[in-house]
Amino acid sequence: MKGTVFHGPHDVRVEQVDDPALKTPTDAMVRITRAGICGSDLHFYEGALPIVPGFVLGHEGVGVIEEVGAGVVRLKKGDRVVVSAVPACGRCYFCRRGQPSQCAETGSATFGYGANFAGKLGSLGGEQSEAVRVPMADYTCFPLPDAIDDDAAVFLADILPTAFFGALNGNIRPGDTVAIFGCGPVGLCAVICAKLFGPAEVIAVDSIPYRLELARKLGATPVNHESGSALRAIVELTDGRGADVTIEAVGNESALTAAIMSARGGGTVSVIGVFGMPWFNFPIGHAFMRDLTFRIGLANINAHIPELVRLMETGAIDPRPLISHVMPLDDAAKGYDIFSARTDNVMKVLLKP
Ligand SMILES: [Zn+2]
Ligand SMILES: [Zn+2]
Repeated sequence: MKGTVFHGPHDVRVEQVDDPALKTPTDAMVRITRAGICGSDLHFYEGALPIVPGFVLGHEGVGVIEEVGAGVVRLKKGDRVVVSAVPACGRCYFCRRGQPSQCAETGSATFGYGANFAGKLGSLGGEQSEAVRVPMADYTCFPLPDAIDDDAAVFLADILPTAFFGALNGNIRPGDTVAIFGCGPVGLCAVICAKLFGPAEVIAVDSIPYRLELARKLGATPVNHESGSALRAIVELTDGRGADVTIEAVGNESALTAAIMSARGGGTVSVIGVFGMPWFNFPIGHAFMRDLTFRIGLANINAHIPELVRLMETGAIDPRPLISHVMPLDDAAKGYDIFSARTDNVMKVLLKP
């Protein structure tokens, strides 16, 4: 089959790779019909994370079940599904508590990250390809209703549940002001999800005008942090208090610091950005004096997919305005190039095998 192989920074190539095969009875084989390129794929592409090359990229996939192992009970050949970016068993202590990101059976195995991140399940294939083997398929693949097309469904694999998790962690209450740092695909999904909780205002902070314009179209108040201090703008919009809830959706130190400093006394800071660095200088004195609540974590994607499927099916949320490009799988290298360079008004890039 064809797959998007990572050869090194700024070097991905679509080439022939081995066809996946079922390994255990709880596996399923999914024929991919749509895949996303994610901001976290860019950490490899841009050389920010050291990783052994030679693996197929991609952890955001939608497709059709082609084959199931004898131990798969909830899925059958022909089902249209979204594949969660994080495999989980659905049965262990953590999964039963709604925390599949901590699943005891997963190890650290994820799709499309190569051998560096291979946990108990071994190195999993990538989904920017024609097919993928999905372990623990019953709680990693989620059937899709016809009302949700493939383009919309890709968002369910990772970034929409991640944004939803960020909004939940923010404990947003009706009438709140929520400030979201970063208007990339995850940040804009956070705008969509924050609005589910009835805030009076969602402020979206970025420095790229076309991204701020999309945030505005989604109902947020755009703040360009290039044209002055985002902190000052947020303080002005909140009668001098700061935002009730801030959500960091970038994954860098300056955005995280701004998210902490922009929260009001007694407010909540919720972090969903993926950080390349292991340590961060936390302004603990400020957090103490301001009585801040700080939440961070890998989203419980599998736990949130069913509720997000319902919200999408009824039209309560629609992430498709975020799609800027749908390209043939063969053009994956071009997709990476424009997503990394932020050219061509790029937002979310989808690949079509
Ligand atoms: Zn992703
Ligand atoms: Zn589990």
